[in-house]
Amino acid sequence: MLARRLLIRPHIIPYRYSRASSGLTRHQYDVIVVGGGHAGTEAAAAAARVGAETLLITQKIQTIGALSCNPSLGGVGKGQLVREVDALDGLMGRAGDWAGVHFSILNRSKGPAVWGPRAQLDRGRYREFIQAELLSTPRLTVVEGSVDELLVSELDANKPGKHKVTGMRMAGVDEPVQCSSVVLTTGTFLSGSLFMGQTTSPGGRMGDPPSCAGLSHTLREVLGLTVGRLRTGTPPRIVKETVDLSLATVQPPDKQPTPFSYANTRTHCPPEEQLVCYLTHTTPGVEKVVRESLHLNCHIQEDTKGPRYCPSIESRVLRFPGRRHQVWLEPEGLTSDLLYPQGLSMTMPPDVQLRLLREIPALRQAEMRTPGYGVQYDFVCPTQLFPSLQVKKAQGLFLAGQINGTTGYEEAAAQGLWAGVNAGRSALSLPPLSLSRTESYIGVLIDDLVSRGVTEPYRMFTSRAEFRTSLRPDNADLRLTPKGFEEAGCVSAERYAEALRVRKGLDEGLAALRSVCMSSTRWRDTLALTCISKTKSVTLSAEDILQYEDISFEMLASAIPDVFSPYLEFAQRLKIEVLYHSHCERQKREMERILEEESLRLPQDIDYLSLPTSLSQEVREILDRVRPDTLGAATRLPGMTPAAIVHLLNYVTKVPRRGRNAARGSVDSMQRVLCLDSVGVSEEEKTSPSVGIFLSEMSNGVVVAPVSIAEDAREKERHSEPDSLGSSGTDSDTYTESENEQPDSDQDPEKDMVPSSHLSALKSAKGEGLQKQPQQEIRIPTQPRTDENLHIHHVIECSCEVMSCQFNPEGTLLAVGMNDGTIKLYNPENGDFVKRIRDSSCYFASMPVTSIRFCRSGQSHSLLLATYASGHMRCWYVWGDECVWSVKEAVEGGKGEGHAQRQTLCMSVSCSNEQAASGGSDATIHLYDLATHQTLQIYKASSTRTLMDGHRLRVFALAFHPEREREFISGGWDNTVQFWDTRQPHAVRMLSGPHICGDALQIDPVTHQILTGSWRTDKTLEIWEYGSAEKVSEVLPDPYGNSKIYSCHWLGRDHIVAAGSQLNMLKVIHRHTLKTESRFMGLSSAVFSSAVCPAGKWAGLIAATSGNRVWLLDREGQRVKKNKQIE
Ligand SMILES: Cc1cc2nc3c(=O)[nH]c(=O)nc-3n(C[C@H](O)[C@H](O)[C@H](O)COP(=O)(O)OP(=O)(O)OC[C@H]3O[C@@H](n4cnc5c(N)ncnc54)[C@H](O)[C@@H]3O)c2cc1C
Repeated sequence: MLARRLLIRPHIIPYRYSRASSGLTRHQYDVIVVGGGHAGTEAAAAAARVGAETLLITQKIQTIGALSCNPSLGGVGKGQLVREVDALDGLMGRAGDWAGVHFSILNRSKGPAVWGPRAQLDRGRYREFIQAELLSTPRLTVVEGSVDELLVSELDANKPGKHKVTGMRMAGVDEPVQCSSVVLTTGTFLSGSLFMGQTTSPGGRMGDPPSCAGLSHTLREVLGLTVGRLRTGTPPRIVKETVDLSLATVQPPDKQPTPFSYANTRTHCPPEEQLVCYLTHTTPGVEKVVRESLHLNCHIQEDTKGPRYCPSIESRVLRFPGRRHQVWLEPEGLTSDLLYPQGLSMTMPPDVQLRLLREIPALRQAEMRTPGYGVQYDFVCPTQLFPSLQVKKAQGLFLAGQINGTTGYEEAAAQGLWAGVNAGRSALSLPPLSLSRTESYIGVLIDDLVSRGVTEPYRMFTSRAEFRTSLRPDNADLRLTPKGFEEAGCVSAERYAEALRVRKGLDEGLAALRSVCMSSTRWRDTLALTCISKTKSVTLSAEDILQYEDISFEMLASAIPDVFSPYLEFAQRLKIEVLYHSHCERQKREMERILEEESLRLPQDIDYLSLPTSLSQEVREILDRVRPDTLGAATRLPGMTPAAIVHLLNYVTKVPRRGRNAARGSVDSMQRVLCLDSVGVSEEEKTSPSVGIFLSEMSNGVVVAPVSIAEDAREKERHSEPDSLGSSGTDSDTYTESENEQPDSDQDPEKDMVPSSHLSALKSAKGEGLQKQPQQEIRIPTQPRTDENLHIHHVIECSCEVMSCQFNPEGTLLAVGMNDGTIKLYNPENGDFVKRIRDSSCYFASMPVTSIRFCRSGQSHSLLLATYASGHMRCWYVWGDECVWSVKEAVEGGKGEGHAQRQTLCMSVSCSNEQAASGGSDATIHLYDLATHQTLQIYKASSTRTLMDGHRLRVFALAFHPEREREFISGGWDNTVQFWDTRQPHAVRMLSGPHICGDALQIDPVTHQILTGSWRTDKTLEIWEYGSAEKVSEVLPDPYGNSKIYSCHWLGRDHIVAAGSQLNMLKVIHRHTLKTESRFMGLSSAVFSSAVCPAGKWAGLIAATSGNRVWLLDREGQRVKKNKQIE
């Protein structure tokens, strides 16, 4: 019933402007919404649904609901937003069902949690639906006009900068209009400029008037808001009949269209009348036109950031030269004679645009109806907003849509709806509401915006949502409709009743599935299944059975109709529910933790700069700039440390000052949980008796760190060890090493007896020095020893051989990669186990982890990237349980040693965490986009060129430039270091010499000098200039040997750490004198990997892996000094 009523609404409501053109009906409204784009329309409708008398003012009524760019809705991540807007009774989903002409579910090959409902729309129909809906919404008046000025009053004389919005003034209208709240949704119109070729004109969109300068003035000058600048663009529109579609590939829609709205069971366009899309590609001619016309294209020459995920053809060509780029030819509507070429957004002069189009075979005769153009516009940095989307400095002023730095209709609509709800509530004196990132993509979007801000147009992706298996497109109604009705008041009673009915049906259906249990043999017979094992009979419930890929709910219903047929209506939803049930249960704990943090609000008047607690100046400045609303938002700020969170928590909960000893075990339970979580203690460990809580007081607060009770014992053991190298000869053995057994760099490294894989390299490295002929006798201890300058801080015992290790950027975690595919996280403070990351169901779970890097996703989350000898690269949430993505590239004509399979050996992440590169045994380097998870490029040496333009043998080390996003270097067995620019298909230059076999290639973040470590005896460590590739200095092998380096690092400004195999030793060398200052030796196997803690309390701590152990080494003098300073 509900479905039919909503779907037919546009027919029964006459299409009219009467209400709008009649002008203002009063001089006082509860809410005024400025702008009738996707954010404004949802905001106005939501405010009115909440019960506020609302006025929508927009420049042109006929552009309400206009799709300014691609006439399409939804997609991966965006489809979830449309579903959520619909679940909150918004307009977008129903409008999409009314206007869609080509429906498809993207990402179908993946799990239903990340399916992306998408539709190509008829522009006219979409507009028609939105306008009809708005003009018939009770309590909503729509008026055409341009808002010139916001009226604000000083709220409190004692708090300069705190304002209250009181109304607005329209251009050409004398009388101001008063209101309690304003929602500003002016999109790209804030100081917007249009670009085409070399011409620029003011405007936010072609054909529309520019926005009034008065608004910019209020925001910048009166309210003092920080404003940034972004850009976007649109492609030319092409006359369909001039396109040779036989030269493009047909992309049919889904046979059965899936509606966006929960209120609809079918789409307006019947399946058989849907239109098709087409796919074609760019040619080298397109790249040539772009390059030749760059001087005529002022939009592309500007520095302003454009959308990374929907870039112009100019950006794509310049970023990935030599590539074929996809171009989708999409219908603009059922009756439209135009095609929209998605992927060809451009801003060159019109004649050049036409020339470019005609370089594509299918468009050789194409006629252009309107040229493409670019827009640059101001956006308000969204960290200045509360999660309710109200501006922090101005009570009653809400911002939504592209004005907040997002791009896309769905992102705009989602914010608009929530801003409208809160503006309405504020006007009705109701408290603000926020959506958590644990319950919705809208919550993720808003949290990302307000807590992290934007540096480029923000677009939604499923990877931004850490709880995406719970936040699925199929269950948005269950997640949000009850809240929308019970709390926000923006959902109709009818829709609410429907959501409750569905919830009840699903619960009963699940109970029915759990109630039917049979032996697997009986299930096999009942369902005539071959996928159930015959040999072992176990009892399985129908819920277990439904988890089999080949089994549908309909099959169960036809086999046992009495029990299951009443729930056939929910067949697909029940299947998805059981698929994700156990996963969602696991996620619940993490969600509860986040909700707990979210519930702890931080007072907005805290003066972070002078807060009497131990926060670093950097953390104070971050907190002062962003002013997070909750403790949860504070934890997600980049640069926040667990210790800082604890200080903050302590301050806001007013925990009294405690003495060091008195504090042990005396923190209240919530604080304890938060503290333990913030330093990453696992659930099991929290309850484990082996973990005590050690609280040490720091000036004014309480710092919490979990410390094993065994710590004291270890401490004693540490001090009982002989403290310096060779202090006692009694327990030292004598053995020797031979010099120069390594071949020259020019020789074939195959003869080098270097093992054939990362793993075997480590294994054969064990004790290899023992077999060499004596040349110089040196007494080396057989027990691990440090000399007086190094101190063993902790030893971590692992269950199997350790392959790789890495500290996180904050220095609060040490990740250790094992031979069996497990990654474990430890607390560097005390070596305590924190968490295990492993997917036991994966084939590569048993493959060695060859390298690990920490990074951050586009906006907020800590991620861990790992490469495996199986050839995989996988990405994990540090604090979640699941793998975010996994990739394994097929070997395609790679060089190297003829391996059938690529072993991934190394990895590096770019400075802005946007890209990662991996190097492999097939001599190739693969470049990935970390936001889209796509492989951007595979680099390999060309077979035709004589110059070295890529690696000829396996690639063992990679390092992105610390400041230049597009540059990285690589080193390997072919005795070269290659320099890469991701805009070029081949290496741009090289230096020769280092024979790299491990993580032995580093760029100094300050001087940008390169450090290389060689797996050879004549040359070990070398320092090179990045710019000239000239050698600066080299460290000669010292009498103790250690001439084969597996791993080396810069250590602060003045030192180098080098670890290797020959004497299983790690050394600290002075960078300028090149003298060895300290040694760690006497290990029974090679120091295969090492890492230096980059920041925090343990900055400079060295991790060295040898066999099953990880040694944490502290340069004694440094540590004592540093900790004294901290205390
Ligand atoms: C040229 C162009 C290309 C784009 N390309 C893409 C793309 O490829 N992919 C993508 O995902 N997104 C794209 N977008 C973005 C997408 O269209 C927007 O993100 C989305 O429409 C933003 O919605 P909004 O409601 O915030 O603003 P808009 O849709 O821009 O609406 C703003 C509204 O405010 C009105 N207005 C402005 N100033 C005033 C005033 N002073 N008084 C009254 N009314 C006012 C305007 O008339 C307009 O109706 C593009 C946008 C543009 C302009």
